[in-house]
Amino acid sequence: MSLKDRLIRQIRMDGPIPVSAYMQTCLHDPSDGYYANGAGLGRDFITAPETSQMFGELVGLWMVAQWQALGSPERFKLVEIGGGRGTLMADALRVAKRFLPMERLQLILIEASAELRRIQSAALVGFDPQFVDALTAVPDGPTILIGNEFLDCLPARQFVREGDVWRERVVGLDAAGGLAFGIDRSDLSAEDAGALPPAPFSGEAEVQPGLEGVVDGLSARAENSDPFYALFLDYGPDADSPKDSLRAYKDGEQLHPLALPGSSDLTVDVDFTRLSKLARDSGLTVSGPLSQGTFLGALGLQARLDTLIKSHPDKADALFAGAQKLVAPDGMGTRFKVICLASEGLPAPIGFGKAGG
Ligand code: SAH
Repeated sequence: MSLKDRLIRQIRMDGPIPVSAYMQTCLHDPSDGYYANGAGLGRDFITAPETSQMFGELVGLWMVAQWQALGSPERFKLVEIGGGRGTLMADALRVAKRFLPMERLQLILIEASAELRRIQSAALVGFDPQFVDALTAVPDGPTILIGNEFLDCLPARQFVREGDVWRERVVGLDAAGGLAFGIDRSDLSAEDAGALPPAPFSGEAEVQPGLEGVVDGLSARAENSDPFYALFLDYGPDADSPKDSLRAYKDGEQLHPLALPGSSDLTVDVDFTRLSKLARDSGLTVSGPLSQGTFLGALGLQARLDTLIKSHPDKADALFAGAQKLVAPDGMGTRFKVICLASEGLPAPIGFGKAGG
């Protein structure tokens, strides 16, 4: 039975489910979830590391600088969360190992998908990666963490304003028995309602509860006196919080989020404003968010491009096009934002403006 038919049967029996539960099942159902069966990564959507090797290489330089900023510790954890095909980390380590003795680092990968774990192991075979299930399972010690296009797949709850109350958007069935968005008429818990903007706000809201999980996992490390820098890159609006940004992609095309559960990628915009606030409230130091174009420019994208073109003049056009796509306003340059969450008292990370260099 397809995932869609299973969802329909479950909703017919137990009633509509929150959008976040739909997203969780579509992405992570153990047999039919989008990531569980390897994902159309590189086919349904193309991420920055799959666009250009320069992305991972510059992140590799960032890692070296932050290792030094941690005081060049004898041993530290290098953690990637949601590493996809392992391309970013392979590119980053190829550069980092020129400056950073590899025996200093313990590579830890947090990855939900068994199939992607297999692909990451193969891509990073020389670096002895260790897989763990969650941030809380990363062993103690100084840490540098990277997550590219990870936060956007944390399931989102959606809310709609009706008069002076908020209601939750759900996935139910239409008259023909197909999947359809609807509204749960019951009252929200006081806690949920209290977290949303008060009347007379009108419109919609979208909240990823998993952002709290990420911040809690990081602040637990800070409380344990394990210094860290955590870099996240993802889609996000400039200042506002997302309203209804749930999108589905298959073969590079956008389609209706309910059309192909489990075989299309589902994604939402990340609320960087909320993430920053949660992190600050937990005592973490926040740098950014700023645009990916600005960040990569500050890390020396142009110089890296010049060097690569000099040594591979035959590939100049492709190299230039890849770099352009990473930073151009109509590519990934402004839609993507970069934020660094760090434990208290560390030097500012590089790439975030004057204080950080
Ligand atoms: N960073 C990669 C892949 C991005 S796709 C790149 O830039 O190419 C999202 C990745 O996050 C996939 O590897 C997916 O399996 C993983 N992922 C999604 N939700 C997760 C979760 N809750 N825990 C761990 N990994 C998760």
